[in-house]
Amino acid sequence: MKQPVERSGQEIACPLCQSPSFKPWAVENGFCCVRCDGCGLLYVNPRPRQEDIDRGVQLGVHETERKLNVVGKRMAWKVRQACSIIQSEYGDWIIRGTPVRWLDVGAGFGEFVEGAKSVLPSGSTVEGIEPMIPKAEDARARGVQVKTGLLEDVQGTYDAISLIDVFSHLPDFRGFMKSLRGLLSPGGEVFLKTGNAADLLKREEFPGPLTLPDHLMFGGVSQISRFVEDAGFSVVRLSQHRLDGIGYSLRNYARKLFGHPVAVGLPYCSKARVLYVRARLRSS
Ligand SMILES: [Zn+2]
Repeated sequence: MKQPVERSGQEIACPLCQSPSFKPWAVENGFCCVRCDGCGLLYVNPRPRQEDIDRGVQLGVHETERKLNVVGKRMAWKVRQACSIIQSEYGDWIIRGTPVRWLDVGAGFGEFVEGAKSVLPSGSTVEGIEPMIPKAEDARARGVQVKTGLLEDVQGTYDAISLIDVFSHLPDFRGFMKSLRGLLSPGGEVFLKTGNAADLLKREEFPGPLTLPDHLMFGGVSQISRFVEDAGFSVVRLSQHRLDGIGYSLRNYARKLFGHPVAVGLPYCSKARVLYVRARLRSS
């Protein structure tokens, strides 16, 4: 394992269980990702300074050895993916046909907003909020309703708030979930999509780069459920989706050839999954 370069960040206790005890799990871009001895959460430690995290979130560029740019571009397949996710996870809402108010936090280029709007019941409103300036501007230029800003800038009440691949970016996920409570109608839901890296024994089992320090934390089924329950929500549905078809295996062979630290193997043998979590606001 390569050694991490020295960073001006601070060593932290586990963001989930507060245990100070951990073991190294991976090093990437000069940052170390550790596994908590108490709860198994994976998190970047030492953590970058808050001002560096904030700048990375707004500009999409992180100060690593070779400047990590994570702005990316709009992906049309993500709109189709959003449609199929809502159809599979919110079929009950679609059948009921009552219009809903939906907010997508960390909306990126607005793909999920576009997809959700096309499949949710007629009359529903779907809005997005995105802190990364170039992404939100791109969405608005295409007529997709995505505001530039943070959660503090959101006003109104929603029936559902989605966090699509947002979990790993947040330094304080529990606090963030608690702040969503005031934006939800009674019985409102948070819908979460993320990977299950903390359910994997070794870094090599994770497909592709970890993208440290843009990603600060990785959970698995137990860690994410615990965060959600701690913040005053009940998990009403948790589904796991495999990634490891034939295309996945071929891509990993190609990555390995180019020197990436990924495990290669036969299709349908990986433990890596995408997790979808529906969590409902508890009334008390
Ligand atoms: Zn822990």
